[in-house]
Amino acid sequence: MTAFSSVVDAIGNTPLIRLNAISDETGCEIYGKAEFMNPGQSVKDRAGRQMILEAEARGDLKPGGLIVEGTAGNTGIGLALVASARGYRTVIVIPETQSQEKKDMLRLCGAELVQVPAKPFKDPNNYQHVARRLAEQFAENEPNGVLFADQWNNLDNRKAHYLTTGPEMMRDTDGKIDAFICAVGTGGTLAGVSTYLREQKPGIVIGCADPLGAAMFKLFTTGEAKATDGGSISEGIGLGRVTPIIEDLKTDHAFAIPDEEALPLIYDLAENEGLLLGGSSAINIAGARRLAKEMGPGHTIVTILCDHGTRYQSKLYNLDFLRSKNLPVPSWLEPREAIQA
Ligand code: PMP
Repeated sequence: MTAFSSVVDAIGNTPLIRLNAISDETGCEIYGKAEFMNPGQSVKDRAGRQMILEAEARGDLKPGGLIVEGTAGNTGIGLALVASARGYRTVIVIPETQSQEKKDMLRLCGAELVQVPAKPFKDPNNYQHVARRLAEQFAENEPNGVLFADQWNNLDNRKAHYLTTGPEMMRDTDGKIDAFICAVGTGGTLAGVSTYLREQKPGIVIGCADPLGAAMFKLFTTGEAKATDGGSISEGIGLGRVTPIIEDLKTDHAFAIPDEEALPLIYDLAENEGLLLGGSSAINIAGARRLAKEMGPGHTIVTILCDHGTRYQSKLYNLDFLRSKNLPVPSWLEPREAIQA
């Protein structure tokens, strides 16, 4: 019998899926790592698991203990799933602007939600600072320990990708991977995967795909993390500052990608290749396409399909929302005439 002992072991080992249209267009083999197939439907399940297991191993968290985090949603879902499976409670602080689907999912996973107005990081009421203060308050009366997961500063986040995501890519491409590219939320994925891949294959090409206006493009091209408002509707990416997770990270290429370029790619994937994805995947795929064009035909390039499109039905896949943002509307999303039975 082959079975997992809990949902925690079902995280990871996601397949690579060939992105056919952009592979054929560029003459490269471009693969998306299907992170939406994790139990919590995102790449952040891996970070959630690693941060909890390492805290347990250090003795910081005992059964019945509490996990607190500030998150755009996906890390919270990963944390809450693993927490339920291992006997912890979770309190999640989330900006109220995040999609309703993610908030609903967090509640279903057993998390207690604290919604706060969206504020920039420099504001003391930014969700990350609120989460830290709440964790400190809870710690005073919590005998079983409080883990403030702190994904931006917690190197166990990056370790998850060094230990699992990177090795899986090397294994599943039979070592043929020539380049890896993705966007940066905390940078755990980009930094963890690229550290592993460079150790294995020193000449590998590493790229960063940033939503237009976000600071990582500037950081990797000019050395200064400076953001301007690009107005991207993607969620969970677009880091604005240098954190311990990315402070040693160097990339070979960086691209600033407008939504108008990225979104049509995921609408085409939904229509023609059966892949329903979120907005950060769109930025990644557009980045992989640009990288393929820079590198030329014949290369194997991997990117991340970060989360599932169902998480954004009220936004990315909603006609009224797209029109309100003056974004391209895929024709297949227009209402069709009902089939008469
Ligand atoms: N895409 C989505 C939808 C996310 O929620 C996140 C994490 N916030 C990322 C991409 C980026 O992952 P990382 O934190 O590893 O950079």
